[in-house]
Amino acid sequence: VYLGVDYYPEQWPIEMLEDDLDNIVELGCNVIRIGEFAWHMMEKQEGKYDFSFFDYIIEKAKEKNLSVIFGTPTATMPAWLANQYSEVLSEFENGQKRVFGGRRQYCFNSKKYQEMSYRIVKELVEHYKAENGIIAWQIDNEFGHEGSDECFCANCQNAFRKFISDKYNNDINLVNETYGTKFWSQEYNSFEEIPLPKPTITTHNPSLRMDYELFRSKSIEDFAKMQYELIKSIIPSVTVIHDFPGGGLSKHVDYSKVAKVGMDIVAYNNYPVWGGQKEPIKPHEIAFGLDYMRGLKQQNFWITEAIMGAQGHDITGYLPRPNQAKLWSYQGMAHGCESLLYFRYRGYTKGAEQFCYGILDADNKKKRRFNESKEFFHEIKKYKKFLEIPIESKVCILYDYQSAAAFRIQRQSILMDYEEQLKEFYRPFFERNVSVDVLPIEADFSKYDLVVAPSMIIWTDERNNRMQNYVKNGGHLVLSFRHGVKDEFNNLTLGEELPVGTTDFIGATVWETESLQDYDAFKVEGLNDLAGVTGVGGVFRDMLKVSSAKSLLKYTDEFYKVFSAATENIFGMGKVYYVGCGLEPMVLSKLFEYILDTVNIQGIPSPIGVEVAARTSEKGKMIMIMNHNESEVVFGDTTLCGYECRISVE
Ligand SMILES: [Zn+2]
Repeated sequence: VYLGVDYYPEQWPIEMLEDDLDNIVELGCNVIRIGEFAWHMMEKQEGKYDFSFFDYIIEKAKEKNLSVIFGTPTATMPAWLANQYSEVLSEFENGQKRVFGGRRQYCFNSKKYQEMSYRIVKELVEHYKAENGIIAWQIDNEFGHEGSDECFCANCQNAFRKFISDKYNNDINLVNETYGTKFWSQEYNSFEEIPLPKPTITTHNPSLRMDYELFRSKSIEDFAKMQYELIKSIIPSVTVIHDFPGGGLSKHVDYSKVAKVGMDIVAYNNYPVWGGQKEPIKPHEIAFGLDYMRGLKQQNFWITEAIMGAQGHDITGYLPRPNQAKLWSYQGMAHGCESLLYFRYRGYTKGAEQFCYGILDADNKKKRRFNESKEFFHEIKKYKKFLEIPIESKVCILYDYQSAAAFRIQRQSILMDYEEQLKEFYRPFFERNVSVDVLPIEADFSKYDLVVAPSMIIWTDERNNRMQNYVKNGGHLVLSFRHGVKDEFNNLTLGEELPVGTTDFIGATVWETESLQDYDAFKVEGLNDLAGVTGVGGVFRDMLKVSSAKSLLKYTDEFYKVFSAATENIFGMGKVYYVGCGLEPMVLSKLFEYILDTVNIQGIPSPIGVEVAARTSEKGKMIMIMNHNESEVVFGDTTLCGYECRISVE
């Protein structure tokens, strides 16, 4: 377990180092993260490497028994590099080149940038090859953040054509056939004619755009893999991490694929509040983000940037209330974080992140946030052995990069937000304190008692078979509206009823479908085991014509009251549920109450806003009770203050 701060010694007078490190030790830290944005300090001129500043920092850190996480500096190129080799700069979709300044302005497909990155990482890691003070290497910083996942430059144009050519066996006719380019006379005679999906009149071909989404991700996967393999080839035993930013399911990169090829341990930069937000995201949404991180490699993760103060570049908003940011740190640990660092030791007086408040402000006085961080570190240390236990869940939620991309390309309903749908289906479990693994569709889900795959619009035979085998063998699966509408090339399927290949499985057919412009566009009414339940739905609805399934909900409006809104079907030894529409949280909660009963999963009842998590080992059981409310709450014999976390061991 590593506990620490992100420290940027290059931003401060060197005379402050000694005191800073003493204070970091006083906080209870055993690690600092350094180096990640300091390329120019390491290579002031091309090929002239100098790591002496960091030699000194590492030496001093070791004197205080502080270990180091060292970041490769490739997220921020030096100005000389941008000026000497302008092809490394990425482009906006309108063809405008990103200029030097800001950060992450590089093109992942620039051969020059790949080469320059390779060289600095190689020099750096070889320099510290025998340095036992470095316990982990972090590659780059926040892949895909702030729009850096997209680039429309000439490097990317060429690489995209190569990507398509490789994928379709260099057969341009196969591309035409697959994309359906007869439509609007878009047939290509050669790969050189294929455009990037830059702005044009109306919209690009949906298959072309799906390939672009896969290509974007592959570009980042390859860049991460290059750094990972290079570091491992120099120091095979060292731990390599990467710090992912939030919002991963909306980015043009598949984090789970990057995690697979680019790191040993996933790290997360957890910002429940950022920029001008009036209030933090909801506790279940924070929890979803943490479980999603744990699911990337299906193992515990690190938080390399936890917040203490308000955050933002040009605009800041909500200041976490006393103990609230500390509570988020506990919540991180409750969801499988093993090591945590605060961003950052002290907010810099200069530069674009002047208003990213750290543990200390520019006044350099130890105040509330210093004390809270210190309390957190000193308390959580006591439970070290529990934090390293893997989290066992009986439920998993599956997501799919291609389905997320399909909804980015064609939103279909203006209210359709794939990530939001996943969080809506996550919420009923969070409210019952039932642990959930959030996993990519490629993961093996056969061991779970209950699997939930919301709005998985992309079907493949392989997916259909895996899901059906899972249920056949006794599993319980929940699907929801717009399931199985598109093939992997983002096209509809001729001669197939919806969901494709799944109608016998769910015991119903989607007869018609409607996109809605409200969350409360229609009423639903419970049937059978949900008799008595009434509520509203919206976003989208599938009109379900039932064959072997049992109806659990139906629509009530004149034209559509003959159709089911949710069904349950017995298939082999298990059951499959189909939720045909967006539902208000109360109705979805009732539905899951019924399903959880069926699979015999008991949660832990708790007052609203009180989260309970447990970790069990042969040595005992650790229980964390977290009050996300600002006011006092009584839970059993425990009274918790606002934003308090109470830990006990049985
Ligand atoms: Zn590019």
